[in-house]
Amino acid sequence: MSGRFREILVDLDAIRENVVRLREVVGTPHVMAVVKADAYGHGAVESAKAALAGGADWLGVADISEGLQLRAAGIEAPILAWLHDPGEDFAEAVAERIDLGLSSLPQLEAAAAARLDEPVAVQLKLETGLSRNGIPEEQWEAAFARARELERSGHIVVRGLFSHLSNASPEDDRAAVAVFTRGLERADAAGLRPELRHIAASAAALTLPEARFDLVRLGIAVYGLSPSGDGLAQRLGLRPAMTLRGRIAAVRRVPAGKGVSYDYTYRTDRETTLVLVPLGYAEGIPRHASNRAPVAIGGSTFRIAGRVAMDQFVVDVGDLDVTVGDEVVLFGDPATGVPAADDWADAAETINYEIVTRLGGRLKHSYVGGAQ
Ligand SMILES: *Cc1c(COP(=O)(O)O)cnc(C)c1O
Repeated sequence: MSGRFREILVDLDAIRENVVRLREVVGTPHVMAVVKADAYGHGAVESAKAALAGGADWLGVADISEGLQLRAAGIEAPILAWLHDPGEDFAEAVAERIDLGLSSLPQLEAAAAARLDEPVAVQLKLETGLSRNGIPEEQWEAAFARARELERSGHIVVRGLFSHLSNASPEDDRAAVAVFTRGLERADAAGLRPELRHIAASAAALTLPEARFDLVRLGIAVYGLSPSGDGLAQRLGLRPAMTLRGRIAAVRRVPAGKGVSYDYTYRTDRETTLVLVPLGYAEGIPRHASNRAPVAIGGSTFRIAGRVAMDQFVVDVGDLDVTVGDEVVLFGDPATGVPAADDWADAAETINYEIVTRLGGRLKHSYVGGAQ
């Protein structure tokens, strides 16, 4: 077998096909693929291109720098960036035609001040319950009035109004949608005519039709994973795009009673074969998954034996016939018989989002599929 010892293998066809399928499911005029945080660990530029090939017509990022990275790679699609540093300079974003998601009057003034030849395209974020960074209801009137004034003077154009949901419960999300709808009415009364109204991320886009409006912002579902860890993605025919894999770096036959890895939290209960896998918490492998997370080797599934260390972990494979260099799949598409990112999320008592996004360290990406 050739290639690297450890890699994040990303199937770009899965990303493209997932977007095609998601567009059928949601039926909205616009679909934004959210590619923040290096596309949830999948590689921002490659994933963005695959999502656009599947029919996404917007890209969403948190940081402006993430949008600039996409522009530097030649991606021309509309981009929205919504989370800014205090006193952030919007000049580069404006020059690169990145829409600014704005959550306060000072941000609105800063955006207007960054105008070049054209009005700056902004999308106002409204607080509707999540208690994070939208404009709070008591400031809507002032913000909408000022935004309309800045539109009239040619400084900005309010392209969108948006918000974000808590997913606390369908009732909580419906209540937030009601607050958002009130915000849309107040904006309309102030003379704003936003082309894009949006509030749903993957969860609401897939389960709460009244939250879809003109556009849905799809992150986790684009990568073929469920927003709620309940198998929804699989039921919709989405395919996990990421496979995390390495190879066996050492094999050792040991007797019963042998302690394994730091603190000997695992001891062999019979003569057995231990294999060493060179991925550790420096790569984002959760130490909390020690003795719990599954891996696939030679078509069978085993559990990690003992503590995940910084650079490596051990697997007890019993009497399986293995050699150095054999493939170890930590997770991928469960339809192919390997563990899912959700299995790792369960083992680490977290969510699939964190499992895929936290990967890094010495891992490299490889890609299959896609246009290139
Ligand atoms: C991350 C994010 C999304 C995407 O969420 P998913 O649950 O991954 O679909 C959408 N909108 C905002 C504002 C976000 O921060």
